[in-house]
Amino acid sequence: MADCKAGHTFRNWSRTLEFKPRRFCKPRTEERIVEIVQEARAAKGCVRTQGAGHSFSQLLPTNDTLVSLDDMDHDVMIIADGTEVNVSAGIRLKDLLPKLKARNLGLRNLGSITEQSIAGAALTGTHGTGIGLGSIPTQIIAARLVAGDGSVIDLPKGDPRLKAASLSLGALGILTRVTLDCVPHHKIDYNVYVGKFDHVMASLDQLVQENVRVLLWWLVPLFDRDDVIIITKNPPGHPVGLLGGAENRVTPPAGLKPTLKPTPLGKGLDAMMEALATQGLGSTGKFKKIWHMSGDYEDMLTLPLLPVFHTECEYAVPAANGVAAMNAFRRVVEENDFEIQLPVEVRFTAGDDLLLSPCNQGPVCYIGASPHGNTAEIFARFEPLMRDHGGRPHWGKHFTLTRGDIKAMYGAHYDAFVALRNTLDPDRVFANSFLTELFG
Ligand SMILES: Cc1cc2nc3c(=O)[nH]c(=O)nc-3n(C[C@H](O)[C@H](O)[C@H](O)COP(=O)(O)OP(=O)(O)OC[C@H]3O[C@@H](n4cnc5c(N)ncnc54)[C@H](O)[C@@H]3O)c2cc1C
Repeated sequence: MADCKAGHTFRNWSRTLEFKPRRFCKPRTEERIVEIVQEARAAKGCVRTQGAGHSFSQLLPTNDTLVSLDDMDHDVMIIADGTEVNVSAGIRLKDLLPKLKARNLGLRNLGSITEQSIAGAALTGTHGTGIGLGSIPTQIIAARLVAGDGSVIDLPKGDPRLKAASLSLGALGILTRVTLDCVPHHKIDYNVYVGKFDHVMASLDQLVQENVRVLLWWLVPLFDRDDVIIITKNPPGHPVGLLGGAENRVTPPAGLKPTLKPTPLGKGLDAMMEALATQGLGSTGKFKKIWHMSGDYEDMLTLPLLPVFHTECEYAVPAANGVAAMNAFRRVVEENDFEIQLPVEVRFTAGDDLLLSPCNQGPVCYIGASPHGNTAEIFARFEPLMRDHGGRPHWGKHFTLTRGDIKAMYGAHYDAFVALRNTLDPDRVFANSFLTELFG
C-alpha cells in the first residue's frame, strides 16, 4: 500500500538511535492500522509505533514495521461535561494545546516541551512538576487500541485495563484515541529564586508542600556550583510562603521581553540566565528572588526547543528520599570533573496507581542528569546511587536495568502488566528486543 514504504531511516531526537525498518507506514485510518497489524502478525513480524521519536531509550528500534500516526485525522471532540476531550492518540502536544485553548480548556500539567505526541508522552510516563499533580498518563480516562490480533478494543472510563494501557511503552497495542480529563485554560505566575545548595535542601520539603509546582535547576552555567535555582509556578495570587522572605532582586534587563516563549533559547533563556547571574547572589545564603513573569499555563510550564541534543538519565526516588539522593549525587559531582549538557533538574510528581508508573508507590522526586563528555561514567554512578535511594527510571530516558531489576521494582504490578500483555498481544506483535529483554 502507498502508505507503507521501504528505505526509511529513523533517528530519534537526540540522534542516539538510528535504524532502518523494513517498512515505514503512515496509515490514515484505523482500518489501515488493523490491516498493518494483521499483515505483520501473519508474517510473524513486529510493529513498533512511534510518536515524535523523542525518547532516549530503545523502545522503538525494529527491523520490521514502524508505524507513525502523523497522517491520521487529528480531530478533537469534547465528549462529556465540557472537560472530557477525545483526541487522536498521535496528535502532538503542540497541536493539541491550541485546540484545547480555543475551547477554553487545558491539560492539568505538562512536561517541559510540547513536541511529543499525547500517546508517546503518556506511554512512557512523561511528567512535569507538582507534588499534587499526576504525570501525563494519569490524565487519560479512556482509550482505544488495536491489539495484537488486529481487534479494536475500547477501554472505557473505569476499565481496570487502563492502569496498564495508559503507560504501556507501546507494548500492548497501537493506541488510536485517548480521552483526556481536562481543566479550564488557566494562567500561571512564574517566579525564580536562587539559594545555596544546603539551604535549599533544608527547605525543600516546605517549598514542595507550599507551592503547586516547584522545580530546581542545579549546576546552571554562569552560576556557582553551590547555587540552586528554584522555580515556582503557581496560580496568580497563590500565597508565597517561605519564599515570601526572599530578597527581591528582580531587574529584568532592558530590551528583554518578560517571556521565554517568543525568543529562541539562544537569545531568550541565555539572556535571562546571564541577567540572573550578573545580579549576584551575595553571601548571606538566603533566597533571592531574581525573576518573575506570568502568562498562559502552556507557556509558563514549557521551554522553547532546546539547542543541544542532550542525553538524559532520570530517576524517580520516593519524595521523602529526594534530599538524601541529591546530597549523595552532589558528592559524586564534586569528586568528578562533572560537565553538563543541561542543568540537573529536580521535579516532583504525585503518586498514582498505574501498573508501570515510577510513581505508583507514592509521590516522587524526579532527578534528571544530562552530563557532557564522560556521560557513560556519570550514568554508571548515577543509576546505582538513585536505586540505593529507592529510585525507578523514567521509561523514555537512558537506563540499563535488566528484567530481574524491573520485576523486583514493580513486583505484583509487573506480573499484572505481563498478564494483560499475554491477553492483548500473545504473539508479541508489538515487541522488539528491548521489550523482550524487560518483559519476555
Ligand atoms: C528535549 C526533551 C525534553 C523532554 N522533557 C521531558 C519532560 O519534561 N518530562 C518527561 O517526563 N519527559 C521528558 N522527555 C521525555 C519524553 O517526554 C518521552 O520520551 C516521550 O515518550 C516522548 O514522546 P514521543 O511522542 O516522542 O514518543 P516516542 O519516543 O516516539 O515513543 C515513546 C513510546 O510510546 C510508544 N508510542 C507512541 N505512540 C504510540 C501509539 N499511538 N500507540 C502505541 N504506542 C505508542 C512508542 O512505541 C514508544 O514505546 C523529554 C525528551 C526530550 C527529547
